[in-house]
Amino acid sequence: MRLLVVSTPVGALGSGRGGGVEITALALVAGLLERGHQLTVLAAEGSTLPASCAAAALWAEPGVDQPSWQHRPRGAAVELPADALLGHLWRRALLRQAEFDVILNLAYDWLPLWLTPHTATPLAHLVSMGSVADVMDGLIAEIARSHPRHLAFHTAAQAADFDLTQPPRLVGNGFDLSRYSFQAEPAELLGWAGRIAPEKGLEDAAAAAARLGLPLAVWGLQEDPAYARRVEASVPPGTLQWRGFLPTDQLQAELGRCAVLLNTPKWNEAFGNVVVEALACGVPVAAYARGGPAELVQEGHTGALAAPDDVAALVAAVRRARGIERRHCRAWAEQRCSQQAFAARIEAWLEAMAGPTLAHR
Ligand code: UDP
Repeated sequence: MRLLVVSTPVGALGSGRGGGVEITALALVAGLLERGHQLTVLAAEGSTLPASCAAAALWAEPGVDQPSWQHRPRGAAVELPADALLGHLWRRALLRQAEFDVILNLAYDWLPLWLTPHTATPLAHLVSMGSVADVMDGLIAEIARSHPRHLAFHTAAQAADFDLTQPPRLVGNGFDLSRYSFQAEPAELLGWAGRIAPEKGLEDAAAAAARLGLPLAVWGLQEDPAYARRVEASVPPGTLQWRGFLPTDQLQAELGRCAVLLNTPKWNEAFGNVVVEALACGVPVAAYARGGPAELVQEGHTGALAAPDDVAALVAAVRRARGIERRHCRAWAEQRCSQQAFAARIEAWLEAMAGPTLAHR
């Protein structure tokens, strides 16, 4: 297939502002290239692709980022800033659509979803979040009725947020596991990784670390610095070790030293990339039993689950997770979340969706 992958209108690839969508985009592109497809990536100016995606063409567009839906009121109206990146991306996608068999949209945004019935080239959407806005819920429900095969989701917990008429297509997620090294011997250190924003619940991980008397290393982009300061002030000095946002190669080297990764979503986390990234390094995960992480963490095998928002339960989960055999974590990631298996699932979805069009080529 000749595929056009349209990236997030929140940040350039490599900036971290796009959150988990960035790593999903790269795994998907690298994995589909390996399977012999032709890939073009349309993304914000300043985006970079790793060597594994070198065979893909990169088209860049300038423009102003979209506001993230998850940080707006649930009833908010659709908003487009002046000189919107989203508008630039989709103008280019529509102008060049005849050169592709499928357009794959990774943006959680109104405009590309709304375009679904109006493109000549089939337009597929990998939905990257659960329900966060009424207007998006309504449109996803509408497309689920008119074009059900055009939608895919990461997990069952995420898909359950939406009003779907058919069983959802679930594709999980994928990672280039060769970039993550197994580390057998942990340090006396807990870890937490993700965008530093209220929906990620860092304050609960910090409180659990303080109760356990262990330092908590924190990796990620400070989306909300005032929130970060509040979390810092909520625990004894020295509990948190701010490590900043690191590229994958450095992140995995540091993450792998942790005894346990804590994952504490306050929202219905669609997947939870950092859970799998930790497991790939051999780090067991203690997570709230909410959203994707509840499907990814296998109690007693790759980590431990706690009742959501219950810090005492999280402390107990960390203690249980410390006894997990680290090799089981790596093995689980290899079995379930390889880039190759993910790309095969995406390929099967896109071929099923665009089948009639492809047959006429
Ligand atoms: N991440 C990173 N460097 C860091 C911290 C995080 O590259 O220092 C990446 C991490 O690899 C993961 C993403 O940020 O892929 C966060 O994705 P996740 O699915 O956990 O949450 P989201 O941001 O999509 O809500």
